[in-house]
Amino acid sequence: MTATEPRPTTNNVGIPVASDNDSLTIGANGPILLQDHYLIEKNAQFNRERVPERVVHAKGGGAFGFLEVTEDVSQFTKAALFQPGVRTESLVRFSSVAGENGSPDTWRDPRGFAMKFYTSQGNYDIVGNNTPVFFIRDPIKFPDFIRSQKRRADNHLRDHNMQWDFWTLRPESAHQVTWLMGDRGIPASWRHQNGYSSHTYLWENAGGEKFWVKYHFKTDQGHDFLTQAEADRIAGEDADYYIRDLYNTIKKGDHPSWTVYVQVMPYAEAADYRFNPFDLTKVWPHGDYPLIKVGRWVLDRNPDNYFAQIEQAAFEPSNLVPGIGPSPDKMLQGRLFAYPDAHRYRIGANYTQLPVNAAKSPVNSYSKDGAMRYSNPGDPVYAPNSYGGPHADPQYAGETAAAYGVEDEVIRSAYKLHSEDDDFGQPGALVRQVLNDDERARLVANIAGHLKNDVSEPVLERAFTYWRNVDKDLGDRVAETVRNGGGEKANDK
Ligand code: NDP
Repeated sequence: MTATEPRPTTNNVGIPVASDNDSLTIGANGPILLQDHYLIEKNAQFNRERVPERVVHAKGGGAFGFLEVTEDVSQFTKAALFQPGVRTESLVRFSSVAGENGSPDTWRDPRGFAMKFYTSQGNYDIVGNNTPVFFIRDPIKFPDFIRSQKRRADNHLRDHNMQWDFWTLRPESAHQVTWLMGDRGIPASWRHQNGYSSHTYLWENAGGEKFWVKYHFKTDQGHDFLTQAEADRIAGEDADYYIRDLYNTIKKGDHPSWTVYVQVMPYAEAADYRFNPFDLTKVWPHGDYPLIKVGRWVLDRNPDNYFAQIEQAAFEPSNLVPGIGPSPDKMLQGRLFAYPDAHRYRIGANYTQLPVNAAKSPVNSYSKDGAMRYSNPGDPVYAPNSYGGPHADPQYAGETAAAYGVEDEVIRSAYKLHSEDDDFGQPGALVRQVLNDDERARLVANIAGHLKNDVSEPVLERAFTYWRNVDKDLGDRVAETVRNGGGEKANDK
């Protein structure tokens, strides 16, 4: 169509409409006629413009790019996307966790780092975060944890007292809260942060040998952060600061990238490692399991339809391709269920038909019909059949299942079987061995600012004990700062 060709407004099925501005009425001042179908279609459509926002990770943005494998890790996995030289199209959605859609990007929060890889063997998703650990280790606590970070039932306000009540009653949160209150709790942009799978996965090579792995996407832009004061100011000036930064950076041709690494643990070592390696509140120390380089991951294309490509993007840790399987990480096991369940609720049963969620490799599924289905596999509609329909072949699936630990009795248990299955050792190491004096001082100020106005006894004293358990000196400094009325204003409520 040329610019001079007429382009009349039509309704949803292409019929030209009479007016963009005036409803059909009986006389200029009379009531509106029900026969004005366009008026009704337009308003009815508007009423239905939203899909439910995500219960967590509601606010986000994303981009497209690719993963390029520059090294040879084929001794660890047969997955096609990780073979030397393979380049795979990718999508990412970055997000904050607790804030609603529209909340300021710079509130203190972990950041979601959800990646989709359109591989030759189907879609592979790594639904990671910008931290290598999480607040809890069992999905039975997930609704409790998220509710404590969101809004009260009575006044619909966020509440630091509620947050600290939960954190201090569940000390396995200490490692993640140390991250959250530190500099990495408010990155300077989505480009200036690492991504971590956090979860452990199972890799299997072509010879059937199995390994446990964790992914690390290390920013090539370098780490950068906002102080509490900077983040507070930006939250008022530009709630969409991270979305704007990513979009404008890619638009001007500056393509952010990350170097991809894995930590690899031989399968048998998990049994007597010094702490449970599937505990999501723990990292694997680099000294024990050094980073092994895999390749690079680049973002080079902005979405052109935010709703279709980002709001309706459906990531699910259950999208595991041949050569990659789940681990017994309890949080991962819970998420294998929760993510596809959320998509069916938010978007509908046929969410995988949307172009952003559809595989770029052949789909030979027997799924059919349902709301908004627009293509079906055709006959035969059942398996097995005698008429040339697809049939499952384990040789292609190469199922890498987590049978680990199934010889055990069926129990409900916290991880307490390994000698270092404690809650405070690793956050203490982060504070004492990794942070420098300036970072420690900001950590104290951020924690004290978060505690000082809204957190009351008995939660407050428990919070001081919590931090003394992480590090005695840190806890004393937090207590002293709060008692003296110091600390940074906290901007997540
Ligand atoms: P290392 O000294 O080998 O690793 C420390 C790591 O901490 C660095 O490699 C860096 O990882 C990360 N780091 C650096 N500055 C900060 C900061 N200000 N805030 C948070 N993380 C930072 O020690 P260990 O592997 O034994 O781990 C010690 C502690 O370091 C852990 O308890 C954990 O909190 C933290 N850490 C460990 C990671 C791991 O996978 N082992 C990953 C990240 C942090 P990176 O390059 O990934 O940013």
